[in-house]
Amino acid sequence: MDTRKRLYVGLLVASLLFLLGAAAAVWYLVAYRELAVNRVILAVVAVAMGGLFMVVAGGILAIVLSILRCEAIPSLDGAMRLANQVLFPVAVFLGKALGIEREQILRSFIAVNNSLVRARKRFIPPRQLMLLVPHCLQDADCPHKITVDIGNCKKCGKCCIKDLVELADRYHATLKVATGGTLARKFVAEVKPRGIVAVACERDLSLGIQDTGVLPVVGVLNSRPHGPCFNTQVALEQVEEAVRALVKGE
Ligand code: SF4
Repeated sequence: MDTRKRLYVGLLVASLLFLLGAAAAVWYLVAYRELAVNRVILAVVAVAMGGLFMVVAGGILAIVLSILRCEAIPSLDGAMRLANQVLFPVAVFLGKALGIEREQILRSFIAVNNSLVRARKRFIPPRQLMLLVPHCLQDADCPHKITVDIGNCKKCGKCCIKDLVELADRYHATLKVATGGTLARKFVAEVKPRGIVAVACERDLSLGIQDTGVLPVVGVLNSRPHGPCFNTQVALEQVEEAVRALVKGE
C-alpha cells in the first residue's frame, strides 16, 4: 500500500482505537467509581459534556429563533456555527437512516443557511460581493475559457453566463466561474469578498457554505435538465434576489 493510502487507513485504525480507548476509560471510571479520583474525572467529563450540550442546544434554539423572527442573535453566532459543525454530519447520517433523500436534507440545510444570512442584515458594498458560479452553467460547446477570465465570454446568449455577466456588471460585483472546490477556494482567497452568492448543486453548495466559515454565503441551486454537471441552468431572478439580500441599501 502506498504512503497516501497508508495515511488514511492509519487514521481509520487510530480513530477506531481512540473510540475503543474512550469506551474502555468510561467503563473503568464507572466500574471503579468508588475511587475518589474516578469520581472527580467522571464529574469533569460530565460537566464538559453538559457544557457542550448546552452550547449546541443554545445554537439550535438561536437558529430557530433567528428564522422565526427574521432577526439575528449576534451573541450566539458562534454557538450556531458550532451546532452546525457538530451536528451536520450526524443529521445527514440520521436522515439517511430514516430514508430521507440526502439531497433533500442538503436543500433544507442551504435554506436554513440562507435564512440565517438574511436575518443578520449585514449588508456589504456591491463591489465586495462575489458571484461564484459553476463551470457547468457554460454551454458545453462554447470554446471560450471563462474560468481563466470571465471577460472571454462573448455574450452570445447560448447559455446563462451572458445574463450573469450583465447582472454582475449592473451591481459592480465580481463574477467568477469555478470548475470545482479548489478553484472556488482560490478565487475566494484572491478576491477576498465580504459576501458570496454561490450557485451550485446541493452537495457543492452545502460543502462550500461549511468551508467559508464566518463569510456570509447565500446559496442558489442550479437546475440540471440534462443531468448533473452538463449544461446546467439557474434562475436569474433567484440570483438577483440573493444579491439584493447581501448588498447595502437593497
Ligand atoms: S454566453 Fe458566453 S459562455 Fe455562454 S456560450 Fe456564449 S460566449 Fe460561451
